[in-house]
Amino acid sequence: MNTHPANTIEVHGIEIPSGLLIGGSWRAASGGATMDVMNPATGSVIARVADGTTEDALAAAHAAAEAQQGWAAAAPRVRSEILYRAFETMMRRQEELARIVTLEMGKPLTEARGEVAYAAEFFRWFAEEAVRIDGGYSRRPDGLGRTVVLRQPVGPCLLITPWNFPLAMGSRKIGPAVAAGCSMVLKPAPQTPLSSLLLASILQEAGLPDGVLNVVTTSRAGDVVEPILTLGMIRKLSFTGSTQVGKILLKQAAAQVVRTSLELGGNAPFLVMADADLEVAVEAAVQAKMRNMGEACTAANRIYVHTSISREFSTRLAERLAGMRVGDGLTEGVQVGPMIDAARRDKVLRLIEDAVARGARVVAGGEAFAGTGYFVEPTVLLDVQPGSDLLDTEIFGPVAAVQTFETVDEVLRAANGTEWGLVGYVMTQDVDLAFEISEKLEVGMVGLNVGIVSTPSAPFGGIKQSGLGREGGRVGIEEYLDVKYISMPLRERSHS
Ligand code: NAP
Repeated sequence: MNTHPANTIEVHGIEIPSGLLIGGSWRAASGGATMDVMNPATGSVIARVADGTTEDALAAAHAAAEAQQGWAAAAPRVRSEILYRAFETMMRRQEELARIVTLEMGKPLTEARGEVAYAAEFFRWFAEEAVRIDGGYSRRPDGLGRTVVLRQPVGPCLLITPWNFPLAMGSRKIGPAVAAGCSMVLKPAPQTPLSSLLLASILQEAGLPDGVLNVVTTSRAGDVVEPILTLGMIRKLSFTGSTQVGKILLKQAAAQVVRTSLELGGNAPFLVMADADLEVAVEAAVQAKMRNMGEACTAANRIYVHTSISREFSTRLAERLAGMRVGDGLTEGVQVGPMIDAARRDKVLRLIEDAVARGARVVAGGEAFAGTGYFVEPTVLLDVQPGSDLLDTEIFGPVAAVQTFETVDEVLRAANGTEWGLVGYVMTQDVDLAFEISEKLEVGMVGLNVGIVSTPSAPFGGIKQSGLGREGGRVGIEEYLDVKYISMPLRERSHS
């Protein structure tokens, strides 16, 4: 790590801004505080970035508020082209961005490359949506007037993102906000600020005007977020993170009646029906469980397998997970990286211990790796018993918790027996059953014979305590638009 002038650092040969982005300038935090960024594969410090304060947060909110009017007036095509240029730059720099994601977050390089492409795709998708914001024109029922409906940017937004998909969770919010004509303050997770700082510099380079995107990295979220919301200048909060923090923010937003989108935690059920194609089901389970080392809101948290195929399914799943290569994500060929930090690793180990104490059997993995970094072995637990803690919380680690079932009604009751409702997975070859279960699962998304559902072209989001609103798809931009109508009288000529 070398320190460069003008709040820039070099991390593994990649130049990254290390300051706060406020009103178009990169600057140190007021008071000059910095925070360390760690590589979870080694536990070593890879960078030091500005640690923003309340004062910085308020300056960023003011900068966003000042930029709002001008940005709302920018032509849709202008907004679209900025996003498209940013998409192209991200794809051109895919390798560099992937290395930064892996360095600060830990996921294997192949997955990091995938995240870069996924993140960039939100910019392309919303570049296309920016020029398709439409309205309506209708004749009043009494024939005495007309109503014109228009959509306008909601105003300055506060965007808060987690560490598990540090690029994609940012672009999934910035893309539609830019397209709609909103200015923003972004507060990334303290574990993974580098991806957001690079993303912001790419948008700057692509021509985003000063003040439209402001970035405040900080280790004290509470000192930054609540003061911004209380200021009363922010019209929209978009948060991705845990349900627990989402509830706190929802209350804070309520005090100012701020429009709120929440992408919160999941506890995904993964149903393997008696007629499932086993090869497809095992492959989907590996993806739904092991993508991002299980540190995904969409991770299969509870795997329910029909008793008639449970032995075969479990054996194959255990073989697949036991064969996965664990290690530093920067090493080509590694499939499973570390947990983000020691606390998360220890939580995963505690959940395994609790499940085993209640009667589960470990048929693969089950242990941490000794040495540096926060690694947990890919683990398969069979006969997980009701009441085990891991059924009631997000495991957020590489642990497959398998249970069996006999009837469709029984498994639907179990799958829906949680306050979460983000995503569910169904493995079956029976079309009628597929639709019945898809409709009855209390979730916002269903993976049918597939283990990954995320795509920028679909409306990602959950129901129940997994969130409010949707990101991506045709509806994604609506979260950043207000609806207004103009009502006008219009005399109709009478026809003889
Ligand atoms: P988290 O602890 O809720 O934190 C998310 C963000 O909120 C971070 O930037 C965090 O900063 C900030 N934050 C925490 N407390 C805050 C407060 N009191 N006021 C303002 N901001 C606050 O979640 P995480 O551990 O980063 O991410 C994992 C969670 O995100 C999981 O539950 C996962 O399911 C969920 N997630 C959901 C989706 C989805 O689309 N539904 C996608 C990805 C992840 P600090 O760390 O500094 O507190």
